[in-house]
Amino acid sequence: MDLDAFSLAGRTILVTGANTGIGQGIAVAAARAGATVLGVARSPLAETADAVAAVGGRFVAIACDLAAPGAAVAMLERAWAEHGPIDGLVNNAGIIRRADAAEHSEADWDAVLDLNLKTVFLLSQAFGKRLLAAGRPGRIVNIASLLSFQGGIRVAAYTASKHGVAGLTRVLANEWAGRGINVNAIAPGYVESNNTEALRADPERSAAILARIPAGRWGAPADIGDATVFLLAPASAYVHGAVLPVDGGWLAR
Ligand code: NAP
Repeated sequence: MDLDAFSLAGRTILVTGANTGIGQGIAVAAARAGATVLGVARSPLAETADAVAAVGGRFVAIACDLAAPGAAVAMLERAWAEHGPIDGLVNNAGIIRRADAAEHSEADWDAVLDLNLKTVFLLSQAFGKRLLAAGRPGRIVNIASLLSFQGGIRVAAYTASKHGVAGLTRVLANEWAGRGINVNAIAPGYVESNNTEALRADPERSAAILARIPAGRWGAPADIGDATVFLLAPASAYVHGAVLPVDGGWLAR
């Protein structure tokens, strides 16, 4: 096995939502593989900075509310100018709002679609434009969901947004694969994070979910981080437009 094929040495990777959960797992895994990680969130990123330092990596914290109009693209342009060129973009930041479809508010719909889908497009577009203009290769990894394939319950906006992320991954891959940009997505299964706190706190839902996972455990942020490194690294050079489930076998069942 060529170990360099899995190395991110010399690469700069921007990860949104890097202060906690899956984004933190991705930041640490990318840093361990040799990347300089630019981590973005609204909240302080000190915990991730410490975790990256613990594996001997380099980390830059960037404060940004990605849902504020114009903020995401302005952040990317500033990050490129100050810390670039950037080699990889991981669109991980995302929110979920749970409500019966009949009661799902328009405000919740807009909040979820704005961050989970529109911001993913705008950041990818800004990053892609930069790469194309510079004639540089690059990687985009979108964090999709099992709800890019399945319907879910009480999460109408979230499911619509994550189906959208799968489609967006494919259309960007179709346009950019021939120009040196790999666009792929990871569909995490049920991962222990703030996003799934409500599910894990409900003993009935939690037991039902666990019983359906062939691997017999919830996912950890590190599981998603290591798979993301694959999609950022030379090893996946010929992978384009894939939505890779990392789900303990959930979808196989
Ligand atoms: P999480 O622990 O709730 O983390 C969400 C991340 O998104 C945080 O870093 C948060 O930063 C960031 N974020 C939210 N709103 C933001 C905003 N307006 N501007 C900037 N950053 C913002 O959830 P997670 O489970 O790690 O989720 C990460 C991704 O994985 C999401 O796209 C989620 O849909 C997806 N996913 C999760 C699971 C799962 O089982 N956990 C399964 C499938 C897919 P702040 O704290 O600063 O807001």
